[in-house]
This record gives sequence, structure tokens and C-alpha cells, in this order.
Amino acid sequence: MMADEWFADGLRFTCTSCGNCCTGPQGYVWLNAEEGRRIAALLGIEEEVFRRRYARKVGSRWSLNEVHTEHGYDCVFLDRQSEPEKAVCSVYEARPAQCRSWPFWPENLLSRRHWLTTKRVTPCPGMDRGELIPAEEIHRRRDTVAPATEE
Ligand code: SF4
Repeated sequence: MMADEWFADGLRFTCTSCGNCCTGPQGYVWLNAEEGRRIAALLGIEEEVFRRRYARKVGSRWSLNEVHTEHGYDCVFLDRQSEPEKAVCSVYEARPAQCRSWPFWPENLLSRRHWLTTKRVTPCPGMDRGELIPAEEIHRRRDTVAPATEE
């Protein structure tokens, strides 16, 4: 760990299940082959069926589909019905690394300014509240996703 890292003392984060990070403008929820297999298995369907129904190819990569709602472009697996006032992931146990690692993405950790901008723009009410996540754990989560420059 770099001692002078701006988040060397850790960062607070506890998700409130508002769903804001799973909607918004059109985007991508990247998943690799293993992540696709895990979601298909959770749903109890063939991987090919899962890809046809819920994912799309973007260049050489795969992304989950989105559904246009009054909130924006929701992830196809965002469930706004099951829990009152909450938006939850219907494949939570098998969610891809991009979702597991939020908000500790490389581009959000570049500086405190980047972190605060993400917190405000998303907006993510879970950032800077609740559980203190140590720097080592932040690194671990960050390093499960590709660097911001990699498309
Ligand atoms: S925006 Fe933040 S608080 Fe809301 S669902 Fe996403 S991680 Fe949780």
C-alpha cells in the first residue's frame, strides 16, 4: 500500500439499495465468460439462452442489456418491485465484478475529487457513510476490474 495514497485510512461505504448505480445514461455492465456462466446457472438456463435474452456483444466483449424506464436505463436485472422503496439486484449472488467492486473503480479512486464527483453525479448515497473499508480491501476490489483506460 502507498502510505501517501489519499484513501490510505480507508473509505466509508454502505449501500442503501437506491439503485442509482444500476441506472442512468446508457452504458455497459461488462461480464466475462465465467460471470456469464454464473448468472445463467443462477437463473437455471443455458448460457446461450442467457446471452440471447439478457446480454449483447460490444466489440469483442459482452455487456448486460438495459431497460429504458422512468429512472433511466436500468440494468436488465435491476428489480424495483420486490422491496418497497428499494431497487435490488435480482442476480446479486452472481453479479459481475463491475458491480461487486462499485464504487471502488479505478477512475473513482484517482483522487478525492474524482471520488466526490462520482458520489455527487451518480448520486450514490452509500459513499462516505457506514462501514469503513480498509485501503487493502479497496485495492482488492479495485483490482478486480479493468483500468479505466481499457475498453
Ligand atoms: S448508488 Fe450507491 S447506495 Fe445506491 S444502490 Fe448503488 S451503491 Fe448502493
